[in-house]
Amino acid sequence: MKKTSLLFAVVFIISSCNNTTSETSNKQNVQAEPFRYAIVIHGGAGYATPEKLGDYGVRVYEAALDSALQIGLRVLDRGASSADAVEQVIRFLEDDTLFNAGRGAALTSEGLAELDASIMWGADQNAGAVAGLTDVRHPITAARRVMDSSVHVMFAGPGATKFAILQGLEIVPQEFFQTAGSRASLARALKADKFGTVGCVALDMNGDLCAGTSTGGITNKKHGRVGDVPVIGAGTYAKNSIAGVSCTGQGEFFIRLAVAKEVISLVEHKGYTVEEAAQEVIFDQLKPFDAKGGVIVLDHLGRVAMEFNTSAMFRAYGNSTGQQLVRIFPD
Ligand code: ASP
Repeated sequence: MKKTSLLFAVVFIISSCNNTTSETSNKQNVQAEPFRYAIVIHGGAGYATPEKLGDYGVRVYEAALDSALQIGLRVLDRGASSADAVEQVIRFLEDDTLFNAGRGAALTSEGLAELDASIMWGADQNAGAVAGLTDVRHPITAARRVMDSSVHVMFAGPGATKFAILQGLEIVPQEFFQTAGSRASLARALKADKFGTVGCVALDMNGDLCAGTSTGGITNKKHGRVGDVPVIGAGTYAKNSIAGVSCTGQGEFFIRLAVAKEVISLVEHKGYTVEEAAQEVIFDQLKPFDAKGGVIVLDHLGRVAMEFNTSAMFRAYGNSTGQQLVRIFPD
């Protein structure tokens, strides 16, 4: 049986999503629908509250997430690969200064943007990652080129820039990242870390899963600090037969616990659903460390989990049946 027809035959299970925002539980298992593709997006986990964001802030973030979702759905609907969907969605979010990735990146203690990104292709565990970029506009595209056009998996610092230049990617001056927003957030970070990393997992009509993540890291981080995002198995993982995962949170702990791969392993070896696996890691395994963050997971049947132990995680989900949701706060 071809993968495509298998997917059509599959029963898709997710909560009773209505067509737009805020009506839906994250939980799966309520409604059964056939589907051809699915996508889940995060824009970081953090300490936003309805009061802090305000009605206007909520609307702005929801609109940005919805735009990203529509980009991903359009790519998948025309039959393109999940890697294309992940790259296009993340490029869009990297250009939006609302998020801590690309242009809106959090800055180091020296006021510089040092960007990390990774992408993984679930069919063969091919992967690409970049760390500590200071001048590449779209780190996710650099990561994709590492995956597609290099025998290596990760490039860092000046070598990563050199690779990006050779690949013909857009190089920008450091000032490009010095937006008013990220400067303001740097000041705020003297008290609290800013999250806002972006990530995406997509399942295409061919049955291929892809996961990607991009970040400026943590505000006020020390120069040269690399978090979980470019570390395959920590911030990002994908395996066609199991699921794709993208993380956000305190990267040091996500590296130490190999969070993305741990979610995959719980599904693969313990028979957990993606929701059970995500909950175990986010609520149980991170707890002894008091580590904060969240995870999005999409399995090979399109079942989704979006779990976080912070007060908010910007997130969106959609699939070919028209089910869509955009959420910020817990259900
Ligand atoms: N995980 C990212 C890092 O530690 C930060 C985040 O997701 O907010 O670099």
